[in-house]
Amino acid sequence: MSAQWADELWRIGLSLLAALLLGLLIGHALLLICLVLALFLFLHLRALYRLDARLRHSKSYNPPDVGGVWGEVYYLFYRAQQRQRKRKKLLVSYLNRFKMMTKAMPDATVVLRQDGEIEWFNKAARRQLGLRHPQDLAQRIDNLIRVPSFVAFLRDKNRSGPLELPSPSHDNVTLSLVVVPYGKDRRLLVARDVTQLHRLEETRRDFVANASHELRTPLTVINGYLEMMSDLPENDPFKKSWGSPVRVMHEQSLRMTSIVEDLLMLSRLETGPREVHSDVIDIPSMVRIVAEEGRVLSGDKKHLINVDIDDSIWLRGNQAQLFSVFTNLLFNAVHYTPAGGEISIRWYATDATIFFEVEDSGVGVAPQHISRLTERFYRVDVGRSRDAGGTGLGLAIAKHILENHDARLTIESTVGKGSIFRGCFPLNLAAKKPKRERPVMVS
Ligand code: ADP
Repeated sequence: MSAQWADELWRIGLSLLAALLLGLLIGHALLLICLVLALFLFLHLRALYRLDARLRHSKSYNPPDVGGVWGEVYYLFYRAQQRQRKRKKLLVSYLNRFKMMTKAMPDATVVLRQDGEIEWFNKAARRQLGLRHPQDLAQRIDNLIRVPSFVAFLRDKNRSGPLELPSPSHDNVTLSLVVVPYGKDRRLLVARDVTQLHRLEETRRDFVANASHELRTPLTVINGYLEMMSDLPENDPFKKSWGSPVRVMHEQSLRMTSIVEDLLMLSRLETGPREVHSDVIDIPSMVRIVAEEGRVLSGDKKHLINVDIDDSIWLRGNQAQLFSVFTNLLFNAVHYTPAGGEISIRWYATDATIFFEVEDSGVGVAPQHISRLTERFYRVDVGRSRDAGGTGLGLAIAKHILENHDARLTIESTVGKGSIFRGCFPLNLAAKKPKRERPVMVS
């Protein structure tokens, strides 16, 4: 118990005792005790009323000069008030620092509620996303930026990668957007200006496309002449002395031609419009043709090529592109499987996915290489790839084509045991086999 409370109790006790003694003297003890109690009640009610009035209206930070219990109460209030004021000051300074930081940030930052409602945004968001302050606060962001890819991006809670989007408020500006969930039900949308990077990437793509295009004609001419020289009769004096170098030159120029053709194909896939897949393709027949070509390529290596096809599954897609993916995966299996090895080609579906699968019993790929196989010119064993006539671009092209079909390429492999390369297509690309079958056309 504090000293003030002890004093207060003493005061009441002594007052009551004095009232009792005086009351006994004059014969009105009860009346005097009641008067003393009423006086104490009045004093405390008045103090309570003053405290209430002070809490409601007073702006003074100092406690009034009151003694006793009420002085203590005022002091405690004052102390709590001081502590709260300090905490508030600290919070305000944090908030100001945070505001200054986000103001200085070049990236647009928007705080969203779970349903996409805008709670807060910084200055860069006004500039880059065209948001207006304060009108757009509490608006749903997908009502303000109505680009379908953005709306789908916002809805897809599992997506981790960024979305590239033209800025809604500036022509020629490209933004890269990420959404990060935080707290209980908030999301942070961050948009970065990647125009410069985008331009560089475009320049690189244009350069590769133009260079490949320009190389095509001279290579065709060189190939033609080298072929003519290779075809000279064996007893021709030129062939006698230059036959071997001409053969090597011809081989190399053919290799260069395939690289240029593959680079052009990649450029077309990267820059061309994403196709809407409306062709219904007889994949089972296509897979049989691919298997037959694989057997021809295998030739003397005499691989055992098994085919397991679900004839009921057809697909909507680009016929020539899919043919190129399937042949690439099978030809790789043939190239990287020793003679007499087993290769299985499968075409089947599960509840959610359709698979084109090539399993081989070949050399396999070590785990550290697997994720890099789809990079351009990445080869585990450059010598072996060259011997097999590879360009190092096949899987990069396959990956692009599959992405064009909303499909993925997955690779499982064990060194010395073999590999499984899978094209995984979404079930919504499946098409019904038509009543009257059309012959498959492969260009
Ligand atoms: P390449 O023209 O060199 O075959 P790809 O892009 O098709 O180029 O393949 C890239 C690399 O992936 C190859 O060089 C090879 O090292 C590896 N690879 C591809 N398929 C297989 C396979 N079935 N078995 C083992 N390695 C493979």
